[in-house]
Amino acid sequence: MRIIFLGPPGAGKGTQAQFICQDRNIPQISTGDMLRNAIAEGTKLGLEAQKIMERGELVSDDVILGLVRDRLRQPDCENGCLFDGFPRTVAQADGLNDANIAVDVVFELQLSDELIVRRISGRRVHEESGRIYHIEFNPPKVDHLDDVTWQPLVQRHDDSEAVVRARVEVYREQTAPLVDYYKNSGVRYFEIDGDATVDEIRNNIRERLIAAEV
Ligand code: AMP
Repeated sequence: MRIIFLGPPGAGKGTQAQFICQDRNIPQISTGDMLRNAIAEGTKLGLEAQKIMERGELVSDDVILGLVRDRLRQPDCENGCLFDGFPRTVAQADGLNDANIAVDVVFELQLSDELIVRRISGRRVHEESGRIYHIEFNPPKVDHLDDVTWQPLVQRHDDSEAVVRARVEVYREQTAPLVDYYKNSGVRYFEIDGDATVDEIRNNIRERLIAAEV
């Protein structure tokens, strides 16, 4: 089973992806996390990607498709995976098709532009694991600390308001065309209201997956 989570920044893709991957025992393929790891490791790719990410722009399709193809060769992807933040352009979606990587379900998490900024300003992450929190909507058990390791949480550099606005624009221009792309492709496509609680969204996605019999 391969699932795609589509949606603007702050819609809850990463948070919900973590739940589904745990439920279904499939890996979460977050190209954003992969790029952040490359930055943390100081690789050439990381150094190049960092500047692009700080501006809220997209890393090139070739680089992203290379990363994803390598990742899909790992044995843990045998039973499927959940793509979180990929594909982000029509060229990336075509790249999946060309490699005969079939997608079964697409979830589009929808959120208005006003809510996106509010959501993102409260977002905090545990850098090492990628666990995501929100100071208001999904707080950690102890303020500012990760629930599992008790290490401090941080705010992503590209979660500042100016960069978020750029990311939303990039989403509307380059990623939103994937809505029609997948709606017309015959895959099961579900629109999810991202303006609900974390638990409500989680249940909504679970129910739809069960109803879709995947
Ligand atoms: P995310 O964590 O998914 O919000 O991604 C953070 C940033 O990484 C994005 O703003 C882009 O600069 C870059 N990025 C992540 N995934 C992709 C992708 N599939 N294509 C191009 N750039 C990406």
